[in-house]
Amino acid sequence: MEGRKLVVANWKSNGRKLLIDNLNRAVCTDCDSINDLVLCPPAALLAYAVSAFADYAARQPFIRIGAQDCAAYETNCTGDIPCSVLAEIGVSYVIIGHSERRRIYCESNELIAAKVRAALQQRQIPIVCVGESLQEREAGRAFEVIKDQLAPLAFAFQPSQTTPAALIAYEPVWAIGAQQTPQYEEISEIHSFIHELTWAKVLYGGGVTIYNCNDILRANNISGVLVGRSSLAPDFYKMLTGS
Ligand code: PEP
Repeated sequence: MEGRKLVVANWKSNGRKLLIDNLNRAVCTDCDSINDLVLCPPAALLAYAVSAFADYAARQPFIRIGAQDCAAYETNCTGDIPCSVLAEIGVSYVIIGHSERRRIYCESNELIAAKVRAALQQRQIPIVCVGESLQEREAGRAFEVIKDQLAPLAFAFQPSQTTPAALIAYEPVWAIGAQQTPQYEEISEIHSFIHELTWAKVLYGGGVTIYNCNDILRANNISGVLVGRSSLAPDFYKMLTGS
């Protein structure tokens, strides 16, 4: 897959207004971009980030703001952020089904599918995370696990749609927050598998750094990267420039 790639920055619970300002300054002054950015700060900073990067609605790099999660339903539920509220403040992407939420909050494939539906109803682009644990990988079950995770999402990938409604992020759980990534050929193989099942664009996440990012983005069938820790570093913006 050629052309501009998407870099998704998942700041998790980190980042402050200052980090948003610093990233904005770096992108403005130093960024001859070849890739685009979806910045996903903590929920409390979403509105600030939308307004900080408002200028990029009409120029490159394409920069949009994403949430790290959303409510599955529009009904009252204390603490949940409905997609309609995210849409109202200008959030256009939502990470859904990150392995930390699957593990810590026991989010099921079905709940994740409900969140994807909720986001699509508000014309947001879901970035759905899938991936196997180390145990599942060692048992030779990676493909099966990913297929199961994708099964309730068929509605998001109808052949009648002109473009797939959602993005998929392949994030092997054992590579998240670790110093290792799969071999690039292994990533390409799993991305091809996901692409055949969904025809969605597939991003890779887990252990992406400023040092391996370009090589990963050059591998086959990789439409972008989802970056955790390294997206907090001062030189993160270089992932947009390919330098
Ligand atoms: C993540 O948390 O989704 C992630 C990819 O983290 P890291 O880049 O730190 O491995």
